Amino acid sequence: MALTHWQAGHRQVLVSHKPGAITVSLTESELVTYDLAGRFLGAYDHGTNIRRGLDNTFQKRWRVGAQDGQHLRQSNLTAPEANTYLEGLRVRVAGLLEDQAAAQSHPATAQALKRAVGFTYDRLVTDAATFTGLYGHIPILPPDQYRALVVQATDGCSYNRCTFCTLYRDKTYQVRSAEDFRRHLEAVLGFMGRGLSYRISLFLGDANAIAIPTPRLVEIMHILHDTALLRPILERGGIHAFLDIYTGMHKSAADYRRLHALGLRRVSLGVESGSEALLSYVQKPVTRQDMVSVMTNLKNGGLAVVVIFMVGLGGSTYRDVHLTESAALVETLPLSKGDVIYLSQFTPDPQAPYRPLAAESGLQDMTSDEISRETKRWKGVLEGRIAVKGVKVAPYSFQRFIY
Ligand code: SF4
Repeated sequence: MALTHWQAGHRQVLVSHKPGAITVSLTESELVTYDLAGRFLGAYDHGTNIRRGLDNTFQKRWRVGAQDGQHLRQSNLTAPEANTYLEGLRVRVAGLLEDQAAAQSHPATAQALKRAVGFTYDRLVTDAATFTGLYGHIPILPPDQYRALVVQATDGCSYNRCTFCTLYRDKTYQVRSAEDFRRHLEAVLGFMGRGLSYRISLFLGDANAIAIPTPRLVEIMHILHDTALLRPILERGGIHAFLDIYTGMHKSAADYRRLHALGLRRVSLGVESGSEALLSYVQKPVTRQDMVSVMTNLKNGGLAVVVIFMVGLGGSTYRDVHLTESAALVETLPLSKGDVIYLSQFTPDPQAPYRPLAAESGLQDMTSDEISRETKRWKGVLEGRIAVKGVKVAPYSFQRFIY
């Protein structure tokens, strides 16, 4: 990280250059970060964090004190609020460039700040429309991939029947042809511009891109490697993707070894639970044996894995069996150093079939406080069951995802 500073009137301008982003200290308790294209990425403002997604969502997070400790709160800014906030920042950052002589002594910093000032709120709105035209929406990524460059080799989810999930209900699953993928990739790179340097890995979307037949996947990976602009990203973070257990069963260790040789590093599996009864209840019926078999092939192919469990799924009705059988599954998985288990806190989507089905079957939901406590219980139990060192168990909230 490099620091530049100069005097602007009574103020010292302090800008830190990180790989792919610059952060400006507006005051001791106000920092604002932009990507190198000038897009607002986020800010810290007197204890409140504000982050922007490429779809122009402005998400605000802050902590409040309570008897049992600090709680994180979150809301989205309305469009007028976001407009006022962003324009206020722009005026202040423009003010830092007023002393031309000082700014000219730090030309790279001044250029980066000028690009940020050039991104008006209206321009961000247009930028977001381009993003949506390119991607539709990106509803989820594994937490370690929030800074990935997403490129969609497929659209939607090939399964799309889990009762709790609405992430891809509006999309018809399709695999892009090589030609279509090339066009998409070119458009993505054009859209990102200098902002590409903020991205530290490549994520092959959407929900289960590894479901693509291996020869076509190999073709896609060659297209990625033939793209010069992607080289730094591929070298730094490699290629990542989601995989569901059903399609994972159609590939062998030799397939995964081939993909690993082409840069695939880690695959994220939405396992949700080790309880076959619960998986069947939410219409994601796979056996523990299937999961072990898919993960063994992935590991034999040289890949790292992310295993995602959904804490709170099945409410208090399934509370104990969900944890007990997930812990039993973890004991049998061939996990190794660098693998991650994420504990996603379940929040039923009102639009998903899960809710009416739960009401019909008399299932007892858990409150969000109960799920928070349950997540701590899961973390303790799973950490005690993992036999190897270097496998992380980390809770995360899907609601905080922003791309
Ligand atoms: S949970 Fe995963 S496999 Fe199930 S419908 Fe959603 S994206 Fe598809």
